[in-house]
Amino acid sequence: MSHLDLLDRALLEDLAPSTQKELLEQALTDHQPPDNRRVFVNRTLRMEKIRFIGFDLDWTLADYHQTAMSELAFELALERLAHQFGYPEEILESKFQSEFCRRGLMLDIEEGMVLKMNRHRYVGRAYHGRRFLDNTERSSLYRQEPIYPSSKRFVFVDTLFELPEVNMFSELAERKRNGLELPDYGTIYRDTRNAVDSLHGDGSLKSKILADLPRYLPRDPKLALALERLALGDRKLLLITNSEWYYTEGLCTYLFDGVLPGLDSWRDLFDLVIVSSGKPNFFKKSIPFKRLDDQGDEVEEVTTPRWGGIYSGGCRGGLMHLLDCPGEQVLYVGDHIYGDILSSKMSSTWRTALVVRELEDELTVRKELTAQQRHQLVLRSELVDFGQRIDDLDDILLLLERLSKEAAVTPGNGAYLQSMERLRDDLATLRQEHKAMRKHAGRLQRRISTAINSFWGSLFKQGSNKSLFGSQVDDFACLYTSRVSNFSYYGSKHYFRVLQDSMMHESVL
Ligand SMILES: [Mg+2]
Repeated sequence: MSHLDLLDRALLEDLAPSTQKELLEQALTDHQPPDNRRVFVNRTLRMEKIRFIGFDLDWTLADYHQTAMSELAFELALERLAHQFGYPEEILESKFQSEFCRRGLMLDIEEGMVLKMNRHRYVGRAYHGRRFLDNTERSSLYRQEPIYPSSKRFVFVDTLFELPEVNMFSELAERKRNGLELPDYGTIYRDTRNAVDSLHGDGSLKSKILADLPRYLPRDPKLALALERLALGDRKLLLITNSEWYYTEGLCTYLFDGVLPGLDSWRDLFDLVIVSSGKPNFFKKSIPFKRLDDQGDEVEEVTTPRWGGIYSGGCRGGLMHLLDCPGEQVLYVGDHIYGDILSSKMSSTWRTALVVRELEDELTVRKELTAQQRHQLVLRSELVDFGQRIDDLDDILLLLERLSKEAAVTPGNGAYLQSMERLRDDLATLRQEHKAMRKHAGRLQRRISTAINSFWGSLFKQGSNKSLFGSQVDDFACLYTSRVSNFSYYGSKHYFRVLQDSMMHESVL
């Protein structure tokens, strides 16, 4: 331990109040985050310039147990389809497949497909129900005409809340494919959507979660530490959530109260609380705020909120009257690529941080497969060089063939003809070797991809390209990380620098 560390520790013992002491202790011991807990930077961001940080709640601060949450919604929604929407009882035998549903996927509600696209709108993988489509089937469905992902035919899976719907849609499509009498795929999707929506709308899902919080929501003391650290230097923190007051209060009390010494109430962490915010409209429209009392009852309607209050509804414009600063001094942290990140980005100069929980597992697997990934890169480069060699020889043969025709080669030119024949044989052998190499590369690619997710591979990549989701993260999130608590590893004035934003041609430098 250095003299500086000893000095810091002596100061801690004497001066720091309990919560701050924990914070400082952690700062001294955790200098570097583990690789899978790092904050990644798409656009340089100096935290020193950020005066206000807004946080979403669900799947952002509240980092739910993904499978437990999705299974609960899946089972409750299937029951609704059977008992309220008139679907056959057989659908209740459906099994939730946690590996199958992922965000970033696309539903084709005309054809009953679940797809994954790359950033060029090329469909790289597709399942009809639970059946994987081969290259020929995918090609006939999705490569004859351009695809318009924003058309009504396609539904983009934006959030982790939508994972049960993906599973229900593909499960019902599979049963329809196998002969069960069900409505057309579009109706199946809309009924599924309505069943899940009604669970959120009438509070039945939330009441089950609140009744058994430890089952659905892990408690992470580092989350409170991260918020305490981010609030240093008089920076103000805001909670801006679409959830209602009663649910927000229940979740935050469980997540924060008493989780650190001296942290008696979660309200102490936030300078302003906005519930039922109605994002993405919060960022786009002009809507008044409703001030709530501590019981969540409406007191009055206002256009501009005040510090310390609890509000419902509202909009970014009204909030900016209170913040009274350029938008680039506000950082918004959320998990919804559209509702939180894209919407705020398109309608303001707020900076953005996206929480992508899946990143942590993906990085863990990638680390275990480092040797294979290096081998894959070398192999791809060798394949290109090898292919180029074959192309050259192929052209030489074509040239020789043309010359032999033009010169009307006679039997007297036997040596010339023999060398052409040898070249043909050599080329055939090289093509066989190239094919074997391509097969080997394909197997390696599949092994890596399957280790990340057996159905869909990487969330951020599709083949060698970025996935559609990966490119959206790239385009709209200034920062991205797997959990809010990862900010506890960084100083409150940290300079998040872009380390590389390279284009393809830079790889030859
Ligand atoms: Mg959210």
